[in-house]
Amino acid sequence: DPDAPAILRVQGVTKQFRGLKALDDVSLDVPAGEIRGVVGPNGSGKTTLFNVISGLYRPTSGRVEFRGRDMTAHAPYRLARAGMSRTFQNLRLFGALTVQENILVAIDRSHTAESWRYLLRPISVLRRDRDLHRRAREVIDRFGLSEFAGLAPGALPYGTQRRVEIARAVAAAPALLLLDEPAAGLNGEEVRQLSEIVRSIRDSGVTVIVIEHNMGLVMSLCERVTVLAGGRVIAEGTPAQVARTPAVIEAYLGD
Ligand code: ADP
Repeated sequence: DPDAPAILRVQGVTKQFRGLKALDDVSLDVPAGEIRGVVGPNGSGKTTLFNVISGLYRPTSGRVEFRGRDMTAHAPYRLARAGMSRTFQNLRLFGALTVQENILVAIDRSHTAESWRYLLRPISVLRRDRDLHRRAREVIDRFGLSEFAGLAPGALPYGTQRRVEIARAVAAAPALLLLDEPAAGLNGEEVRQLSEIVRSIRDSGVTVIVIEHNMGLVMSLCERVTVLAGGRVIAEGTPAQVARTPAVIEAYLGD
């Protein structure tokens, strides 16, 4: 519903790295409940945009409003506490923990005020917390990960590791989920499953923004798409609308 109130507003964001404007006056509004695609050629600023939104980068100028509050450059853990969760292009699961423990930590973190407290809370304490366990079990079942719960993520097939990463992001009970190239490295069947997973996440009330190179997936999954090129928004609309925008076609030639 494009008329729903925006859960995220990015207003005039510029991010400069020395001489390079990775983002140049980028604005976008994402209505609550939408699955928004962010696409663009390599180096167009997609990941930088996620890094600004999730508080990893302070923008050179401009602001980020999340759930009606100015949260520009708030620390990532504060944004997480406010209901924002993300995945990374390169998996960032805790390799020394099991799948279940990775999920437990994510649930626990969402309830912990300070990042240092969460870091100091030993895994042995988490292991004994029954409420956390019940909730971890729900997430594990929902994502079809029961048979892998006691294994280290590194022992799992790549596509399953990606599923664990999304499960971990959802375990934090976000209102907004940022997915950075979730289909990278997945086979056709895994992409189909991913598409279903993302839809079910949205149907449970979570707004989703997804950076994705797989155009088939973007076209079938996203309600609206924002197209970046050279750090600027060059088009925004339904997948069908942006696909026939000349500037978009031009930006992709030679990519
Ligand atoms: P995309 O995700 O669309 O491929 P990025 O956001 O990763 O694009 O990068 C946009 C531009 O910003 C690129 O030219 C990249 O080299 C540059 N860039 C990204 N992060 C940094 C950084 N930390 N320091 C310097 N340049 C960066």
